[in-house]
Amino acid sequence: MSYAVKGVFWIGVYLLLILAPLAILLIEPVPPGNGFWWDVSLALGFAGTAMMGILFLQTARFRRASAPFGIDIIYYFHRQIALIALFFILAHPLILLILKPQLVELFKPGVAPGHLWGAVVSTLALVALVVTSIWRKQLNLDYDLWRVLHAVLAVVALGLAIWHVLGVGHYVDTSWRKQLWGTFSLSWLLLLVYVRLMKPWAQLRHPYRVAEVKQERADSWSLTIEPDGHDGLRFEPGQFAWLTLGNSPFALKEHPFSFSGSAEKVPTLTFTIKELGDFSSTIKHVKPRQIAYIDGPYGAFSPDRMDATGFVLIAGGIGIAPMMSMLRTFADRKEQRPLKLLYAYNTWERLTFREELQELEQQLNLEIIWLLKDPPPGWQGESGLITGDLLQRRLPLTDPEQSYLICGPVKMIELTEKLLHQSGVPLARIHSELFDMV
Ligand SMILES: Cc1cc2nc3c(=O)[nH]c(=O)nc-3n(C[C@H](O)[C@H](O)[C@H](O)COP(=O)(O)OP(=O)(O)OC[C@H]3O[C@@H](n4cnc5c(N)ncnc54)[C@H](O)[C@@H]3O)c2cc1C
Repeated sequence: MSYAVKGVFWIGVYLLLILAPLAILLIEPVPPGNGFWWDVSLALGFAGTAMMGILFLQTARFRRASAPFGIDIIYYFHRQIALIALFFILAHPLILLILKPQLVELFKPGVAPGHLWGAVVSTLALVALVVTSIWRKQLNLDYDLWRVLHAVLAVVALGLAIWHVLGVGHYVDTSWRKQLWGTFSLSWLLLLVYVRLMKPWAQLRHPYRVAEVKQERADSWSLTIEPDGHDGLRFEPGQFAWLTLGNSPFALKEHPFSFSGSAEKVPTLTFTIKELGDFSSTIKHVKPRQIAYIDGPYGAFSPDRMDATGFVLIAGGIGIAPMMSMLRTFADRKEQRPLKLLYAYNTWERLTFREELQELEQQLNLEIIWLLKDPPPGWQGESGLITGDLLQRRLPLTDPEQSYLICGPVKMIELTEKLLHQSGVPLARIHSELFDMV
């Protein structure tokens, strides 16, 4: 089955999961309504709660469901759906209060039933979830701390919303409706058990051991790991995995890294990691035989999924890691199709994989365009930033069957996508990988 067909299938499953809890409420006998806007408000509350539940599903990293889209698209979708769910949840009480302002009286201490306060706390938790996710960096929230906070707030928001739904009881007044809605709710929370317990448990049973840690140019380290007592995994060049080192997988201290080694050399896995923060700065101290855990492979950023006459790879900085996996795999497969690599970095000295790339240029039908921001004296090659003129001059932009893969800093990706598109490259031929999820 093609990825497009699989994608349509999973979108269908998604819509079914959102609509099923609502449809159940409409099975006869339906309780008498309270007027159009009153019912719209209730529908928004139910829909918002169902969408909150589905948010858990999106981050459960089901490989089959995420494969047609790529996990970055799923996370993007997750953020957009969370905003819509928040809008629905906020609109629900607002409409009720506009219709019946005297409902405010309910919030007097000792008057309001517990589940009503539950709804208030649930809404506040959802607002906090959205605010801390959109402005995490501006709020200086450490990534690991944010992840824990995100999980706690999500459980609080959904758990209390369900309590409110069942507590009010309108539309879920018969016992079978209560049970069905309750079962749906329970299955959303069971997803948490799957993500936090079952997945780490599966990783624990499939450990890896560090085979080598090698220094590369520009404060980067290549970490090679091998499966310990199992067959390991297969991946497509360009994909990535979540890596846990020196912690139990239950600690959820995992970080995503692209595979940089050849997909033909499995079960050996290599990642190339640039020193950027707390975790990436510890790689240089990792010793051989140290235990590691992997959750993957993920991602749709792979030439293996593209029917193309050739590939143009555009890398900036450590964005070379997935490209290295592609080129090494191409070399192992004796790939004949024409390849171009536009590799942008600050200086010649810091070009990670410089020597190996020069060798690959000899082995493959590959041309490398080195683009230096700060070139050495006497540099004959390209310099400065990526421009439309550079792309027109150096890349074969005219072949409509060629695929373009971009990986690097966010600004570079956005600019390059825009320039390629302005130069007439169809959007369907442009693919990019962001190293920044939240
Ligand atoms: C799909 C993907 C592929 C990647 N491939 C590579 C690669 O091949 N080589 C490479 O050097 N880097 C890669 N990264 C980036 C790498 O994951 C982060 O640089 C690393 O997690 C930073 O962690 P830190 O603790 O060292 O730095 P910190 O200073 O703690 O974090 C720096 C920033 O990295 C991001 N980050 C931190 N922890 C995580 C996490 N657990 N999950 C997601 N993002 C996080 C956050 O935006 C954070 O603000 C990739 C990221 C993604 C999303």
